[in-house]
Amino acid sequence: MITINRLNKWYGDFHVLRDIDLEVAKGERIVICGPSGSGKSTLIRCINHLERHQQGDITVGGVHMTNDIKRIEQIRRNVGMVFQHFNLFPHLTVLENCCLSPIWVQKKPRREAEKTAMEYLERVRIANQAQKYPGQLSGGQQQRVAIARALCMHPQVMLFDEPTSALDPEMIKEVLDVMIELAREGMTMLCVTHEMGFAKTVADRVIFMDEGQIVESAPPQELFNNPQSPRTKEFLSQIL
Ligand code: ADP
Ligand code: MG
Repeated sequence: MITINRLNKWYGDFHVLRDIDLEVAKGERIVICGPSGSGKSTLIRCINHLERHQQGDITVGGVHMTNDIKRIEQIRRNVGMVFQHFNLFPHLTVLENCCLSPIWVQKKPRREAEKTAMEYLERVRIANQAQKYPGQLSGGQQQRVAIARALCMHPQVMLFDEPTSALDPEMIKEVLDVMIELAREGMTMLCVTHEMGFAKTVADRVIFMDEGQIVESAPPQELFNNPQSPRTKEFLSQIL
């Protein structure tokens, strides 16, 4: 589903991603963890070209990423993204947030888009809030709307960038439960998160990043119980 080869990226002089190699199979669930500033967000943002890389190759769903807008759009149609701060449109209702891209990008008739949106809102258990505005919802509810909105485009891959780290503790579970359900349904997922319980429940592999590199990659039990690198050990000792 995703192939990344020898990916390098710089912000000015700062070498933020160093020789990243990563293969993600269809249906695979990957958790990415690592210290703040290690390049986790930059890496997943490169996958749908929210960030441009300078060296290496990224292929998503068989489409090779270039700077050609047609290709970028083709890839973005296949890739859903959920951000730390939800990024819902504040002036649109929950339902309108979910219908915007299906109507304007996929050219779906409004009625069909609304029907699909209500189905996904039902699945994240928030259909009863469809007519509200994001500002009227809790953080956990907004994040579930953001997940539903991404799913309305029927993506083949979902990228999550610390989806629960802006939430109050009591709201983390309602979002993780939705993500676990999605994982069980077979969605290909790349999740930047430090929720190690989530990683143990659903991840096929956990990747530890530090200073722009993939330091270690292993199934959760292996990585948590028997980390190979001292950097991984030190990081885990701080968060577990
Ligand atoms: P993480 O998500 O692991 O915390 P990021 O990918 O956000 O890390 O950032 C990695 C590094 O790149 C950090 O040192 C950050 O300050 C820097 N960085 C991120 N975005 C930019 C940007 N747009 N311009 C310059 N530096 C950036
Ligand atoms: Mg980040």
